[in-house]
Amino acid sequence: MPGRPPRVTKTEAIVLRYRRLGDADRIVSLLTPHRGKIDVVARGVLRARSKLAGHLEPGTRLEVALAAGRSMDIVTQAQGLDSFGALRDDLDRLSAAMYVLELADRLTVEHADAHGLYGHLHNALIRLARGDGHHLVVRTYELAILDATGFRPEFTVCLGCGEPVEASRAWWSAIEGGVYCSDCAGRRPGISPIDGTVLKVLRAYQSQPYEEAGRIRLSDDLAARLEATMHALMHAVVEREIGSARFISATRRARVNAEAVLELAEADPGGGDQ
Ligand SMILES: [Zn+2]
Repeated sequence: MPGRPPRVTKTEAIVLRYRRLGDADRIVSLLTPHRGKIDVVARGVLRARSKLAGHLEPGTRLEVALAAGRSMDIVTQAQGLDSFGALRDDLDRLSAAMYVLELADRLTVEHADAHGLYGHLHNALIRLARGDGHHLVVRTYELAILDATGFRPEFTVCLGCGEPVEASRAWWSAIEGGVYCSDCAGRRPGISPIDGTVLKVLRAYQSQPYEEAGRIRLSDDLAARLEATMHALMHAVVEREIGSARFISATRRARVNAEAVLELAEADPGGGDQ
C-alpha cells in the first residue's frame, strides 16, 4: 500500500454552518449520511476566484471530495447538487431553513451514522424551497428528527400510569417529553395543561404521512401555539441531552442570521455559484 498521497473520500453532504479560519480559509460543518457531522477545512474560499465558495453556504447540498488531514479533512473538490435558492426569496422560509439546520447541528453526533437525520433535513429543505407552509415543514421535521434520534415524544399514553389520555384533559411535560392524565398530573411538579387542539394536531403530525398532515388547516393562532409547545420541547431535549445553553434563542438567532443572509443576497445579486 503506497503511503504518501492522502486518502481521498467522497461523500454527499449538507452545509450546516462555517466559521472563518485565518485570512482565506473556512472551517465548514457538514452533515453527511454516514459520518454524521464533520468539520472540514476549505482552503482559499475567501479569495475572489475561489470555486469552492459558492457551494459552501449553509443549506447547500453538495458532493465533496475530502483528503484526510491530520485533525480535519480538507475539501479538495465540491460539486453543488442543490442550493435551494428559492429559500432566499422569503424571510420566513429562510428563517425556517436556518432553524432546521441549527437543529440538525445540535442533535447530531460527530462521526456517527446519521442517515435518518440527513434524509429528514434534506426533505425539509426541499419542502421549504418549494413553498410548503413553513409551520407544517418545521413541526413535522422536529417530530421526525426526535424520532430518528431516540427522543420520540409521547402524545397519547400517560407517562405516569400508561393509560390513554384524552386530548381535552391532558397535561404536558416538556422536560419529560410526554403527556400525563389528570390523576397522575396532580402529583408531579413542573407540568401544565396542554391545549387539546394543539395535542390533536401533534398526534396527527406524529402518526400520519406528511401529505396527510398537510391537509390540517392551521390558523395563525394555532400555528403559534404549536410552535410554542414544540420549541419548549426541542429546547428541553437539546438542553438535557447536549447540554447546550446556546440553543436557548435558536429561533431568534436564526432570524438574525436569515436577515444577514438576505442582506448579503441583496448586496450581491449575482451571488451564489462561483
Ligand atoms: Zn396517568
